[in-house]
Amino acid sequence: MTADRSTMSCAEFQAKLPEMIASGENAASHPHIQSCELCRALLADLETIAEAARQLFPAVEPREELWEQIESAIRNDPGDKDAAGNKHTG
Ligand SMILES: [Zn+2]
Repeated sequence: MTADRSTMSCAEFQAKLPEMIASGENAASHPHIQSCELCRALLADLETIAEAARQLFPAVEPREELWEQIESAIRNDPGDKDAAGNKHTG
């Protein structure tokens, strides 16, 4: 089996292409693209689509970090004095 990236088949490359674009990897510099006109054209198409999608949904990014921040903000809420002691003084 030849697992060389430059001898990767079009099918193999195309299977990875969306992944590469999504992860921000520069697919245009991939060895397969350099030697394959077909995939170069496909990449151009996908980039056009990806660009259009970015414009349609500029803020859609699944971020677990964000949820962690929201969660910790809720936990650190200073307004939970009821839990500390709910007796009336004064
Ligand atoms: Zn190809």
